[in-house]
Amino acid sequence: MSLSDDRAGRLILSLRRQGVTDARVLKAMESIDRSLFVHEKFLDQAWEDQALPIDCAQTISQPYIVGLMTQALEVGPRHRVLEIGTGSGYQCAVLSRLARFVYSVERYKSLLTEAETKLKLLGVDNVFTRHGDGGQGWLEQAPFDRIMVTAASPHEPTELLKQLKPGGVLVAPVGRGSVQMLNRYTGQDDGSFRRESLCEVRFVPLVEGLAKEG
Ligand code: SAH
Repeated sequence: MSLSDDRAGRLILSLRRQGVTDARVLKAMESIDRSLFVHEKFLDQAWEDQALPIDCAQTISQPYIVGLMTQALEVGPRHRVLEIGTGSGYQCAVLSRLARFVYSVERYKSLLTEAETKLKLLGVDNVFTRHGDGGQGWLEQAPFDRIMVTAASPHEPTELLKQLKPGGVLVAPVGRGSVQMLNRYTGQDDGSFRRESLCEVRFVPLVEGLAKEG
């Protein structure tokens, strides 16, 4: 067994201990080499359970949070999933192993291009990406079975909830401060949503509009 296999195994065990017990989710996470998505200078920390800086002052999420959010989303193999905030592409790669199609939106063109390259390297062929303002969702591809927001929404994600299929699930960090509440919204038969607060999280904010670069 190689060193990275060993590290992956240890991380997966630690996620399981922390309550990420969905076997499909754990298998997907074990199968995606996180070191591909982290900055070169953090390579030795790729399999640690911590968030790490990526370009454009953004972050690749902590594996435990990726596991927790993916598990909470209850993704099925026939689902079309929308992810807001492609970032490094890691969460997107994990979702691609669980869903039929993943649609991912990012406001930084350079992050998106880099993430696309990595997804291609992994041979992922069921992901569609878009350079855009994810706060507006992806109207042309809506409705979605599942939606995951990986940046903190300052308010209830009402626009995105409109792009969810009846009975669908949306998971998003919601709040204006440095600590937000991770919420899960489940569509009800009468068109309303049931909201559950799962835990406190720390995400970079969801920012309106495209990012200016260079
Ligand atoms: N899912 C990512 C986590 C990225 S951090 C991963 O696995 O690495 C959050 C990302 O959301 C950042 O890349 C940030 O640029 C992006 N983001 C913030 N506001 C956005 C918006 N309105 N539309 C699209 N992306 C946004």
